[in-house]
Amino acid sequence: AYWPSSSSNTDLLVVENLEVKYAPELPSVINDVSFSLKAGERIGLLGRTGSGKSTLATSLMRFVEPTNGRITIDGIDISTIGVYDLRSKITFIPQDATLFSGTLRENLDPFGDHSDGECTEALRRVRMFADDTPPTQSIRPSRTPSRASSMHSEHFSTATTNIDSKPSISLDAQVSAGGTNFSQGQRQLIAMARALIRRSPIIIFDEATSSIDFETDSIIQATIREEFSGSLLLTDYDRLIILDKGKVEKHIVEFDT
Ligand code: ATP
Ligand code: MG
Repeated sequence: AYWPSSSSNTDLLVVENLEVKYAPELPSVINDVSFSLKAGERIGLLGRTGSGKSTLATSLMRFVEPTNGRITIDGIDISTIGVYDLRSKITFIPQDATLFSGTLRENLDPFGDHSDGECTEALRRVRMFADDTPPTQSIRPSRTPSRASSMHSEHFSTATTNIDSKPSISLDAQVSAGGTNFSQGQRQLIAMARALIRRSPIIIFDEATSSIDFETDSIIQATIREEFSGSLLLTDYDRLIILDKGKVEKHIVEFDT
């Protein structure tokens, strides 16, 4: 059977009494955290810097292993699932999404499983194409001014309107190591496009809004709302979990957006 099955009405993700320590002698960073989520439900994880949001998010990918408690996805304890299998089902969009050097197409579809059309469509859906971008929301090149004149600049439209129907970026665009020729927000958008192509049932989005410009952030928020409505997202909306010093301080279930 396909795992995880996203159709059922049962809990897709269950976190039970989770405790995470980065080293045995260090204090718990996540301390007795429990919650469960259904498929398609979107939860926000809020808390001060250092409260453990990223640690909780990365635990779901087994980048860190719990000291106590467990995480199950569709009834299966993730510690019993190979990390390759686990990470192929979950898309994690980290606060500082990195890309690898190569073409944009290779970054979107590393194993060449999808058509150019699917890749282009995903880029369009995250508004990385100028011809689909309202004039007020043009996607600009990396905010680092020196980058605008770099060798990659021909891949970007520098126009602020969408009169020109040429895409702002092509699948052949070169990506430098780490994706440094893209802004942090653009790297998150590209990671979101990759998630769209893979149709991941679980998407963990570690928001990095603080250092993202307003326009890109608006596009990210719109993409979350419009494109990921059927996926489990550890980000804004339906329900909030507020972490304080690694503990769940509050669950807010009734949350009007
Ligand atoms: P932010 O809002 O700044 O992203 P956060 O809520 O995501 O913060 P975490 O990054 O999960 O917080 O960090 C929680 C705690 O764990 C902090 O005290 C941090 O110093 C500690 N921590 C995070 N990563 C490690 C690590 N690799 N080794 C040791 N301690 C770590
Ligand atoms: Mg964090």
